Amino acid sequence: MINETLWNQWYQLLLSQWGLDWRFAFIVSAVQAGLETYGYEPVTVTSGYRSPARQKALQARWDANDRTGLVVRPATRSWHMQGLAVDVSTRSQSFNLFRQLMESIPYVRWGGRFKKADPVHFDYPIGRLKSIDQLLAA
Ligand SMILES: [Zn+2]
Repeated sequence: MINETLWNQWYQLLLSQWGLDWRFAFIVSAVQAGLETYGYEPVTVTSGYRSPARQKALQARWDANDRTGLVVRPATRSWHMQGLAVDVSTRSQSFNLFRQLMESIPYVRWGGRFKKADPVHFDYPIGRLKSIDQLLAA
């Protein structure tokens, strides 16, 4: 059984600090708390929700060849802008276990399998993927 207190702590953190959509926060927190319940380190989260303005700024930075901390060009349509994506450190001790658990959950995708591989990235593509401009206009 997953420790419910740990699950709840992760859930609150992923909502408030990382701005994840509650449905994705529920999944990621279960996996993190599951790792901890069985004595493994949780993985380090490095990115969650990004506002459309922030996503646009990251694209501009990439295009200006300032690519520190970026693996691929930030997409014009990104689940990060809907709180349905998370990036984690691949150097985390439990990364492979985290990846396996995440990939066992229906609809969750690992960016390491994308054509332009983005191994730090996991998302939960539910609903409609919107562009920066669509979100800015909303
Ligand atoms: Zn990502």
